[in-house]
Amino acid sequence: MMARTTSLRRQILIRAVLCAVLVLAGGMAGAPQTATAASRVAGALHQTVGDPGRALNPWYSTQLHVHSWSNHNAGSQPGSMQYHSAWAQAAGLDVLWWTDHNKLFVQEMDLPLNLQGATITNTLDIALPHPPGIEPWYRAWQIGWLDASVTGAGAPAVALDNGMLHMELRHAGSQFSSFSYRALDYQQRRIGGQSFVRPLISDPVLSLDARRCDAGGADAYAEIRFGLSWHTANGVSAPQELVYRLTPAGQPPAVVASSRVVTVSLPLSTGHIQRSLLADARLLPDGDDNAIQELTFKIASRNNAAACLEISNFLVASAQRDPAANFAAQRVIGQRLEAASGVVQHVGWEQNAGDWHLNPYLARQAALMPGWQDIAAPVFSAAVHAQGGLTALNHPFGADYPPLLPPAQQDALVQSRLNRLLPARAWGADLLEIYLERAGVDLERHLKLWDLLAANGVPLCGTATSDQHGGPLTSPRTHMVTWINAPDPSQDALLAGLAGCRAFFGRIDLFDGVIDLRLGPVAMGGTHLVAPGTGLLHVTVDPLPPGAQVRLVQVADQPGSQLTYIVDHAPIDPSQPIAIDISRPGFVRVELWSADGNPIAFSNRITLKNVSCDVNQSAGVDIVDVQLVAGAFNQTVPPAPAAYDLLPDNRIDVRDVTLAAQCWAARR
Ligand SMILES: [Zn+2]
Ligand SMILES: [Zn+2]
Repeated sequence: MMARTTSLRRQILIRAVLCAVLVLAGGMAGAPQTATAASRVAGALHQTVGDPGRALNPWYSTQLHVHSWSNHNAGSQPGSMQYHSAWAQAAGLDVLWWTDHNKLFVQEMDLPLNLQGATITNTLDIALPHPPGIEPWYRAWQIGWLDASVTGAGAPAVALDNGMLHMELRHAGSQFSSFSYRALDYQQRRIGGQSFVRPLISDPVLSLDARRCDAGGADAYAEIRFGLSWHTANGVSAPQELVYRLTPAGQPPAVVASSRVVTVSLPLSTGHIQRSLLADARLLPDGDDNAIQELTFKIASRNNAAACLEISNFLVASAQRDPAANFAAQRVIGQRLEAASGVVQHVGWEQNAGDWHLNPYLARQAALMPGWQDIAAPVFSAAVHAQGGLTALNHPFGADYPPLLPPAQQDALVQSRLNRLLPARAWGADLLEIYLERAGVDLERHLKLWDLLAANGVPLCGTATSDQHGGPLTSPRTHMVTWINAPDPSQDALLAGLAGCRAFFGRIDLFDGVIDLRLGPVAMGGTHLVAPGTGLLHVTVDPLPPGAQVRLVQVADQPGSQLTYIVDHAPIDPSQPIAIDISRPGFVRVELWSADGNPIAFSNRITLKNVSCDVNQSAGVDIVDVQLVAGAFNQTVPPAPAAYDLLPDNRIDVRDVTLAAQCWAARR
């Protein structure tokens, strides 16, 4: 009975499939008469894929990799979210997708001033030992040096006494002379990492014991200054600042806020100070949108008054350590800035994965959160995919910015990266960042690595990003963005656009329009089945900048370390369709270059692929293959296996079922 039932079901299924084939075949008068059975399958079916409506959606210029509070003092103008939003607004950028470092959201590492065992140099600098309880790996994230400086002609003196810093200055003149200590890392550089440079949304609380060891009065003062992130107001950029004036007991407390600086006068009545930096910074415009960037201890004297300050037990510790709360707080500030600037803002992060950095792009409601740990790239990619997201493999040659390497060394790096990424299939990443120049490797080699991965069976969607960590926002790199085709700029719509690789990338200061490809009904990002002869490639470059050149690149699928070009950067006229060879697996894409030879923008690809109907890899096409595809009808990939998606569009539909049936009919 069971066998009969199965057999009957199978017959019904086959009949249904063949009906579909006949219906489709009836509408295909253009199928070549001389084609073989197998090529007729491909030739007929490539006419049916595609959704012309998708090409009508707008294109959103999107910065997919940008740091705000995790700028780790890497730029000379370490910027707030507002600073980058003002730049984006001025540059005409549509979307900022924040990708701060994962550890930024986990503020569990305290920030002490470890004066126990510190030593004073002959220039009055202070070298601090590594704070106890903090792993040596994070030493450069901590205060390791106090850099002394004096303005005016005052005579400074300093002493350390069992964990207490004692600073003194006396100046006879009528103008203030000052003596300051600026916090640096143990290598005397601005402090990087994510511990000193921590976001104010983590509610860092300042606590210390302090004493004014002078007579007070108008001719001496002492203060602690926190330099915050850069903001832009009326086109002018400057850092915001918190100034804590430590006044003798009995003086009135006061808080004065300008548009850029909050000055808090704190009478030292008990000797102990505790302040929420966030609460004080809220008096500034977008004051919660800040990270600590600088720390200075300062005293000043005039008219021969003694200025003297003693501090000990200095600590900055965050009250809000929950990554989910900090992540949510960043989104709230992004929404506020979106309303103020018109620049759409989404929140993600950049994940450390050992030698690699991966950016997850997730749906708005995804549950995955940034955490402290490094996560191995394949594990992280799988976790992101499980939530329907995408991962980008960031700066594949490395994160630094050394000068360009000699060409032979760059070529060697392309091969070494290819050899690492291919066996791992790029750790499961979906997107690859392309830079004008990064880690000593130029644009040409970035594109070459991208193309070699594809020609070797690991196609990634190309993106360009700035990876900005603050300004000044003037270099060409600043302007590298990705345009995404989507019905609206919501996070989920842009994610879907990226998933289909409906994206191109380049410089928003040189171009802001549309670059798209269409081969028959298949649009850029899609797959066209191999067929005999040629197909007409329609190239959209709108507007075409004056004098600019469009170059066509077509590469054959060919495993190995070098590219096999079918068309090698040939200049084309995009106003006319181009006949291209569609008889070989590979891909086609275009590049836009300026009249003076500068790169402007780059399309993603249309892939040319052989149909492979043996979906169960049984070394032959039979009715089981047809049944497997038909059985997954209307499912997406996943849960349906990608092998069933014969005409790849991530959904098993009548086109796949029909194609499977045609293969079966042709090869039986
Ligand atoms: Zn990175
Ligand atoms: Zn980054």
